Amino acid sequence: MRILISACLLGMSCRYDGGSKPCAAAPALAERHELVPVCPEQLGGLPTPRLPCERAGERVLRRDGADCTAAYEAGARQAERLFDLLGCGCAVLKARSPMCGRGRIYDGSFSGTLTDGDGVLAALLARRGVPVYTEEEIGRL
Ligand code: SF4
Repeated sequence: MRILISACLLGMSCRYDGGSKPCAAAPALAERHELVPVCPEQLGGLPTPRLPCERAGERVLRRDGADCTAAYEAGARQAERLFDLLGCGCAVLKARSPMCGRGRIYDGSFSGTLTDGDGVLAALLARRGVPVYTEEEIGRL
């Protein structure tokens, strides 16, 4: 199966702080499936490094208060396009991210507090019925 995956989980330095979050289980996943790495925040035109954002209801706000919703929505649509073009069957996305998180994300207070919810891309794919896993659920694949 072809799987859309958050690029930071494969060691790409695309996170807001210029770092990555390599996932130890990703190489084994790549032996069984074809991985399609994307960073939807970068696809939305955001620079790296960048100030962190969090979801606040339907909006995505940067730590300095700037509204980044449009860039997040654009990046999610670009990633969705790749998902469709390449015939992906599911997605493995970085937990807790305002773009990629599934189930639990930071609550918009920039205090490290989690709340129920999805990142913008995870929500878009889930609305379509696409199976979306976090890296903490790779064992299910
Ligand atoms: Fe990783 Fe997704 Fe954030 Fe890009 S948008 S750095 S892929 S969690």
